[in-house]
Amino acid sequence: MAALVVFHSPLPRIRALLQRCWGRLERGLLPGLSGGQNPPWGPALAVQAPAFLPQPPNDPSESNEAPSLLDSILWMAAPKKRRTIEVNRCRRRNPNKLIKVKRNIDVCPECGNLKQKHVLCGYCYKKVKAETRLIRLEIQKKEGGPFNTPTVETVVLYDGEKPTEKDEGKRIIERARKRPSWFVQN
Ligand code: ZN
Repeated sequence: MAALVVFHSPLPRIRALLQRCWGRLERGLLPGLSGGQNPPWGPALAVQAPAFLPQPPNDPSESNEAPSLLDSILWMAAPKKRRTIEVNRCRRRNPNKLIKVKRNIDVCPECGNLKQKHVLCGYCYKKVKAETRLIRLEIQKKEGGPFNTPTVETVVLYDGEKPTEKDEGKRIIERARKRPSWFVQN
């Protein structure tokens, strides 16, 4: 693959001259430089482009020619005017862009960890998730197979709890541990 020769050309006149030179090189008007196994070398414009370029469909008429370097360059938009450092700093340090100080931090009444006021406590939610997973495992051990939601209510009984008359006919799941404080019995 051909490598790009970095050449800075700030003046458009020089750029146009370079492009004309390159075009002549391509057409083989300058002998000795083009031809052979390697692609022709010469000054070229350095353009930032993605590593993988979309390959144009091969034309049968141009298939025997060496692929042009200019064909593989993806021309991208470039800024036309320089923004001053004052303008840039005003944009970057705009109060809308700065990180805001959070004042809605609260202490979780259950566990004491810090949490946002309007958001569930992540630590407590993790505990609930883990306990729910264990209850589901218990259900699977008892009933087996995929979960079929029964039409009756499910009651979870912890250590030292007996089913009352209210729980008759309901699905009863027993857990071999003490009832957690946040899991209120109905
Ligand atoms: Zn909590």
